[in-house]
Amino acid sequence: MPEGHTIHRLARDMSELQGQKLRASSPQGRFIDGAAAVDATVLERAEAYGKHLLLRLSSGDYVHVHLGMQGKWFRSTDPTAPPLPQVRLRMATDSVAWDLVAPSKCELLDPPRVAALLSRLGPDPLRPDANLREALQAWSRAAGAIGAVLLDQAVVAGIGNVFRSEALHAVGIAPRRRAGALTERELLALWRVLQQMMSQAVEDGRIVTVDGPDRLNLPETEARKVYKQERCRDCGAPVVTDQVGGRTAYHCPVEQPS
Ligand SMILES: [Zn+2]
Repeated sequence: MPEGHTIHRLARDMSELQGQKLRASSPQGRFIDGAAAVDATVLERAEAYGKHLLLRLSSGDYVHVHLGMQGKWFRSTDPTAPPLPQVRLRMATDSVAWDLVAPSKCELLDPPRVAALLSRLGPDPLRPDANLREALQAWSRAAGAIGAVLLDQAVVAGIGNVFRSEALHAVGIAPRRRAGALTERELLALWRVLQQMMSQAVEDGRIVTVDGPDRLNLPETEARKVYKQERCRDCGAPVVTDQVGGRTAYHCPVEQPS
């Protein structure tokens, strides 16, 4: 599943549509009424909250998209080319078309329903308006292992399995440690690392946590320090895998002692 950086980058790229009148359609037919409501409106703002994309329209309504496991947006600079039949939503101008395929959610929301959606999400480290106090308090109050808490979008939004493994490794915290037992200093370090790591991933368009001049040319299998690694790329210790929060967590037993 795409993590928050993917959605933030999408929102940034889709902001090319801001201020433009949209032509909208649902070639697949599963968003016909929604597309009709989008058609001929102007996109006022494309924004990401965690893994959710919100497109604010001049009508006052929003298009809410969650990509889920399979969803993808395709951009084409030839809006006259016919869309694939499986496109749920096409939004086009005279110069560009954005096609949405296989989202887990694509719906039209009015402002109260957007507010309800956002109230179910914790602070997003990628948003400049994220409330740091709120995030640290939510973590310290959360029951269970920090590795599980990090995946809970209601506590902090946008983190998936790669960021949780790599961020916990960067701050030397084992995924099984109880969130409530971490010190304020550790929680603050975790938040800062997530902000830094996720912002870098927005810029890079992918998650690369190893350093070096050639980092962006590394294949996916070599781009992380512990996630899906056999050995920790910092110290060479064999990486430990463990089910935490229903997903496989990866950690270095030397740098992240339990
Ligand atoms: Zn290590």
